[in-house]
Amino acid sequence: MSISQFLLFFLLPEKKFVTNKFKGCPAFSFFLMIPSGLDEILGAIEKPIQYASGHDFANLKTLKGLEPYVAHWLGRAGTLLLSPRRQSLFQRLRIQAKGFDDLDLAEKKGRISEIQKIIHDLKCEDEAPLPCQPWPTQVEFHQSRKDLQTSIQFIKGVGPRLSEVLKKKNIITVEDALYFLPRLYQDRRQIKTISQLGAGKIETVMGTVLRADMTPYRRRRTFELTIGDETGTLIAKWFNFNPRFMKGRFKKGMRLILFGEVRLYQFQKEIHHPELEILEEEEPATPDGNEALSPEKEKSLHFGRIVPVYSETEGLYQRQRLIRRIMKNTVDLFAAEEFSGIPEEVCRRQNLIPLSEAFRRAHYPDPGEDLSLLNEGKSPAHRRLVFDEFFFLELGLALRRSGTLMEKGIPFSISHRYTSGLRKMLPFSLTPAQERVLEEIETDMRRPHPMNRLLQGDVGSGKTIVALLSGVMAIEGGHQVAIMAPTEILAEQHYLNIRPLVEKLGFRAALLTSSLKKSEKESFHSRIKIGEIHVVIGTHALIQEGVEFHRLGLAIIDEQHKFGVLQRATLKKKGMNPDVLVMTATPIPRTLAMTLYGDLEVSVIDQLPPGRGAITTRVFNEKERFRVYRALREEIAKEKQAYVVYPLVEESERLDLKDATQMAKNLQRDIFPEFKIGLIHGRLKSEEKEAIMADFKARRIHILVSTIVIEVGIDVPNASVMVIEHAERFGLSQLHQLRGRVGRGKDPSQCLLIAQYPRSEEAERRLRVMEQTTDGFKIAEEDLAIRGPGELMGTQQSGLPDFRVANFARDIQLLSEARKEAFGIITRDPLLSMPEHYFVRETLKERWEGRLELATIG
Ligand code: ADP
Ligand code: MG
Repeated sequence: MSISQFLLFFLLPEKKFVTNKFKGCPAFSFFLMIPSGLDEILGAIEKPIQYASGHDFANLKTLKGLEPYVAHWLGRAGTLLLSPRRQSLFQRLRIQAKGFDDLDLAEKKGRISEIQKIIHDLKCEDEAPLPCQPWPTQVEFHQSRKDLQTSIQFIKGVGPRLSEVLKKKNIITVEDALYFLPRLYQDRRQIKTISQLGAGKIETVMGTVLRADMTPYRRRRTFELTIGDETGTLIAKWFNFNPRFMKGRFKKGMRLILFGEVRLYQFQKEIHHPELEILEEEEPATPDGNEALSPEKEKSLHFGRIVPVYSETEGLYQRQRLIRRIMKNTVDLFAAEEFSGIPEEVCRRQNLIPLSEAFRRAHYPDPGEDLSLLNEGKSPAHRRLVFDEFFFLELGLALRRSGTLMEKGIPFSISHRYTSGLRKMLPFSLTPAQERVLEEIETDMRRPHPMNRLLQGDVGSGKTIVALLSGVMAIEGGHQVAIMAPTEILAEQHYLNIRPLVEKLGFRAALLTSSLKKSEKESFHSRIKIGEIHVVIGTHALIQEGVEFHRLGLAIIDEQHKFGVLQRATLKKKGMNPDVLVMTATPIPRTLAMTLYGDLEVSVIDQLPPGRGAITTRVFNEKERFRVYRALREEIAKEKQAYVVYPLVEESERLDLKDATQMAKNLQRDIFPEFKIGLIHGRLKSEEKEAIMADFKARRIHILVSTIVIEVGIDVPNASVMVIEHAERFGLSQLHQLRGRVGRGKDPSQCLLIAQYPRSEEAERRLRVMEQTTDGFKIAEEDLAIRGPGELMGTQQSGLPDFRVANFARDIQLLSEARKEAFGIITRDPLLSMPEHYFVRETLKERWEGRLELATIG
């Protein structure tokens, strides 16, 4: 235990040594808050007031004409844009100055002090009616940051045992505890009687247990409590419960607080699965010797206010009052330490309350607060905390981006000698969307700074050719190109498509995957190193140690969502700040894209090549399987081909999924003996996979049975049917990707989803969405709504911080506001070196903890 912790241990329970420590408004923050022009006016009004009040009002007698003087300056103030509160303060100034010359000295003195108060308020008044946000000194700030890392053990009531329990909730420091927000708020400002409860409303009520019983209900049993007060009775009902636990828990005469939605059932009020708190239960003393507060304090903590309810954990069930006490101690002692330095003007524009106040009110809301806003996580306190998280995320991204903008890169000289040759080899011309994106890329490549661009385009929109043309531009400038794909099959496909084109132009391409023999690998490595190979296509093998480039100029990453941000960085390090183009077909809602790729410029191919047939999607159940087979047969009779996709390669004991290998056999033997059926999956050797894909492309295979290895990238335009088995088990974006394998020719295609029962509600929703739309962006929005962004993008993989308060789906509006403000600051102060950004910079460093390479800000 360090000295400071030692002291803390003794001081904390007694003394609120940290609250209100930064009282008053430093001139510095005045300055930031006052609209321009206002300070001049206030200064002018203040002059005669200071004159009159100085030397114990010695000059008061000689002060004349204050009323017209003030009126003049108020007239000037009328031309400023002022908040309603400031306007009313000015009105009060006018009143105080009225008839001033005719007053006697005592009255004048009174008026002068009133005017001084009003001027002070006018200065401190924020646009939102806020108290002036106190700014700490640098020393105080760093001390606060240290204090907030105090172990939770030092809070009164928490000893070693309890701190073990809290650890399970990731509460280790007092700051962790501050971020442990209530999961629910109950209104106990005025607890209603049973007769006052309204049906359909969420209510809090107090009463006595009259009866506790298990009651037969249909084929199951329910647990029922009859609760009474002097005005009536209420039934609390449980349909799912642990009988032993429930029976032992309630005794007649026990007093409870219940919370939940009130229903009316045959004139009887009921609450199902209420939240409840047993009032008179002896609280077992904790092993840490925790004792209740004085009855008065205890009462004020749990009653007569909006009461927080925290999520519980093993070891803390039914201990709401204990948690509340601990949290109260923590908030009282430490909330005031929280300060992140978001500039005053941003707080004002965004209507943000001070961070310390946000923590206080998020745990112990003020009496007048809006309960539903609190419960939706949208109260001013929640808004501030969410904004804070988003702001520092976006600030980091903005900084990273501005850092790249300032880095030295390769200014490519692009002649178009070879790109125009390449264009002539293509059987099609580019769509306007492809042309536009290519231009954006070319502009970036010519700049002396590294390109960092995300190319987004729905499946089949033609990203590959754009990538290849960009690659050839880099080769024209005398550099090498690396193309990285997430699967071997896709890398091979790129290689097969790209090599003939590149070779016709007189350049060399190589395929680098992990299944190469050691000798082959070594030979490639040395040829890459001396620059003999111009285009290197590969999987992860590309970023592994040992691959060195002669002059890597452009790194292209296909299907970026399959890789993490870190891999992007590693590939980048293979060259001297090469340009980077990442491509993704996973359409990401704009706001989310901004966040995940906030340091990238974005290009979108928002148009499919012309002449594509439409895709019809239908869902079938097991009994309708024969109709799927009939559709397959009809298409193959028209010389078309089909995919059949299974979730797994081999039979798994735990899941009774259809096994691709087995089903390929069955289809061949029992269903389609007249057709040729192929099988491809991830465990085949490269040559085998290559041979099978080549057979499929050449139409020697009619039906390709596959695992999800074909999910990304595969391009065989003659395939017109996609059958997906166990479609209920796939995620939306995966289904959309798989469907993207068809609809690449000019004839109509079909996507046939075979789904089993039982299906979860979510699965049902996914299947309906698939039937309704082929628009990747709509699908992404739905996916976001169904799954939430963490899962959608794998935040862990993308290296983003986890949010403690913010929630993408709920707070997406605040995210763009935070982004605007953060990027604004970086535009004005690219290195965050201005003195007023000191705290912001320090907070940023702490929050990102090396996740960003922030060397630039030192
Ligand atoms: P994705 O964007 O999903 O990677 P691909 O690059 O694989 O799509 O392109 C899908 C198909 O569209 C390929 O067969 C490609 O040759 C073709 N294609 C690309 N651009 C055009 C175009 N402008 N006109 C016609 N076909 C195109
Ligand atoms: Mg592709």
